[in-house]
Amino acid sequence: MFALLIPCCTIQPHARSNEAMASLSFVALILLVVATYCGIAMALVSTRLISRVGQNALSRRKPMFLSLSHYSQQSLRPIGSWLFSTAQDLEEKDPGVVKGTHLRIVKYPHPALRAENEEITAEELKDGSIAKLAKEMFLVMYAAEGVGLAAPQVGQNKRLMVYNPSGNSKKWLDEVIMVNPKIVDYSNGKDIETEGCLSFPDMDGKVERSKWIKVESLNIRGKKVKRKFTGWEARIFQHEYDHLDGVVYVDRLDEENRANVQPRLDELVEGFGEGGVL
Ligand code: ZN
Repeated sequence: MFALLIPCCTIQPHARSNEAMASLSFVALILLVVATYCGIAMALVSTRLISRVGQNALSRRKPMFLSLSHYSQQSLRPIGSWLFSTAQDLEEKDPGVVKGTHLRIVKYPHPALRAENEEITAEELKDGSIAKLAKEMFLVMYAAEGVGLAAPQVGQNKRLMVYNPSGNSKKWLDEVIMVNPKIVDYSNGKDIETEGCLSFPDMDGKVERSKWIKVESLNIRGKKVKRKFTGWEARIFQHEYDHLDGVVYVDRLDEENRANVQPRLDELVEGFGEGGVL
């Protein structure tokens, strides 16, 4: 009996101890899982935050055009508005050859920037050639770290523009393709912001534009769309729309801003050589 009891008595504490250990191990495991989960979540958030700051930093430095003061007004871009405080940080990137397309950005005074741009036909929309062109324009635009591109800027004299206000290729839902766009109304209220352009590397200037615009356009499926743009998107649209009319932002600079960029324009003209159209 004792022989039976003793082992029983000795087993009980061990069993309790093992149970306690098992409970502790279980709790420890849960804590470990929670800690790992939190760690991964924090790492993801940090990466996203860093990437967002990086994107903003890049889009501040090297967009197709931008305005630092305008960026600071963007509620979607609060991060990094203080990172670059002067327009000297503006610098477009020449992507050269871009994988997936033969398109290249033409630079002032390339005649394509001043040539007439043809309306896109229903046939071109149907056969997929415009969708292909738009897709390749996005490739070039992102490679150049720009936010918008008009077809004449890649030597295609068609009334087509693409843009993404975020300049972030991962935010493809923000991508906009405008086919045969028209400005049907605009505000008399204007604002002045600093713009640059991928066809005018290493320079920028202040441009006055309407604060809002109403536009009509076809989308890539040929469906008519009506939109109203304000702020940053209104500015992007107006800049690209000018390209479709053979107008470039330097045409809109006041005397002082024009004088500032004239030496750079002269360099571009000299670099281009024969055949340029001012
Ligand atoms: Zn431009």
